[in-house]
Amino acid sequence: MRQVILCKYGEIVLKGLNRSRFEADLIKNVRRRLKPLGEFRLDSRQSTLFVEPMSEDIDYDETIDRLKKVYGIAKICPAFATEKSLDAIYATARECLGDELQSAKTFKVVAKRADKRFPLDSMQIMSELGGMILEGYPGISVDVKNPELTVICEIRDDAAYVHGTPIEGAGGIPVGTSGRALLLLSGGIDSPVAGAMMAKRGVIISAIHFQSPPYTSERALIKVERLAAKMTEHCGQITLFTVPFTEIQEAIRDNCPEELFTLIMRRLMMEIAQRVAEGYGFQALVTGESIGQVASQTMSALVTTDAVCRIPVFRPCICLDKKEIVDISYKIGTFDISIEPYEDCCTVFTPKHPKTQPTLDEVQKAQAMFDFEPLIEKAVNGISSKTFKAYTDYDF
Ligand code: ATP
Ligand code: MG
Repeated sequence: MRQVILCKYGEIVLKGLNRSRFEADLIKNVRRRLKPLGEFRLDSRQSTLFVEPMSEDIDYDETIDRLKKVYGIAKICPAFATEKSLDAIYATARECLGDELQSAKTFKVVAKRADKRFPLDSMQIMSELGGMILEGYPGISVDVKNPELTVICEIRDDAAYVHGTPIEGAGGIPVGTSGRALLLLSGGIDSPVAGAMMAKRGVIISAIHFQSPPYTSERALIKVERLAAKMTEHCGQITLFTVPFTEIQEAIRDNCPEELFTLIMRRLMMEIAQRVAEGYGFQALVTGESIGQVASQTMSALVTTDAVCRIPVFRPCICLDKKEIVDISYKIGTFDISIEPYEDCCTVFTPKHPKTQPTLDEVQKAQAMFDFEPLIEKAVNGISSKTFKAYTDYDF
C-alpha cells in the first residue's frame, strides 16, 4: 500500500492542442513548491497529477497544504494505492479510512473504473464494496444523497486508489501559461488579492512599490516585502521593484492644485510602472482598484488615470465589495500582514477634499503646470529590485 496524492486538473482538461504545455507548467510549479520538502515522483496521467512522496519522513500535511495553493489543481485526493482486487481495496479502505468508518453514521461508495479490464463495472464495485463495509462496520448505514463519509475507489491502469472526500484545490490555470504582468503593490488589502487573482489565471506576477521616505518608514517597505514573500506561495517567484517616489510627491504638493494631488500622483505611478513594464517585457499592469471605493477610484477618476496608459491595465477587484476582497485575502494568507498599521505613500499629502468627478482636461492641465519628466527619469533610474522565491522564509 503506497500513499499517493491525486491532484485532479481543473480547466486544463478543457484545453485542446496545447494541453500538454499547461500540464508541463503545472508539473514544473508543483516540483518547485515541493522540492524543499523532499523527493517526490510526479506523473501526469488521465487528467490527474500523481504526487508520490519517495521517503517516509516527508511532511505529508505540509505537502498537501502546498498543493492546495498551486493554481491549476481543482481537487486534491490524499489516496492509498493498492492491488486491483476487492479484498485489497476493502483492506485499504479499512486501513486509511477506518476511524471515519467507525465514527460516521452514514456513507456511500463512489467507484470510477478507468481500467475497463477490471471485471466489475462501477455499479458492481459500489455495491460489493458497500456490502463489505456494511458487514465490517455495523454502526454505519448507506445514504447516497447526503452521506457523512464518501469512500472513493478509482480503478486505474496501474493500481486501485482509495480515498475519502476530495479536498478543494486552488482552481484556475497554472502560473506561467498566460504571460507576465506588473502589479502595483501597496501595503493594503486589495493589491495582493489582485495579484493572486491574476496568478490564478496563469499570469506570472512581478510587483512594483512606490515609497516616499522619510514620509513612509523602513517598516512600511518591509511590510510590502513580506506581502510579496507571502504571495509567492500562490504566485511562485515574485520580483519586487521599489521606486523612490519622494521627490515626485513633493513636486506635486508644491506645484499642483491640492484637490487633484492623488490623481496626478496615480498618473505618475502608472507612467513609471509602464516604463518598467516596457523595459522588462511585462505585457500589462495590475492594480487593486475597486470602482467607487475611494475618491481616486470613481469612474471619472479611473478615466483620468487610464489616459496615461499605453498598455492594458487589469483591475481584478474592480467589481468586488470590500468584504469579498477581504475574504480572498484571508484565503491567500495576506490579510494579517495587510492590516498592520504602516503608512503608504498614498496616505501622505492627501487632499482634504479630493475631486471625485474630475475631467481629463483639467487633470492634464494641472499636471502640465510642472515638468515631471526629469523627476520621472530620476525615479526610474533609482529603482532597486529584490526577488522572492516560492515560500521565501522571511524574518525581515
Ligand atoms: P490597497 O488596499 O491595495 O492599498 P487601496 O484601497 O488602499 O488599495 P489606493 O491606496 O487608492 O487603494 O490604491 C489603489 C491601488 O493603487 C492599489 O490597489 C495598488 O494597486 C496601487 N497602489 C497604491 N499605493 C501604492 C504604492 N505605494 N505602490 C504601488 N502601488 C500602489
Ligand atoms: Mg492602499
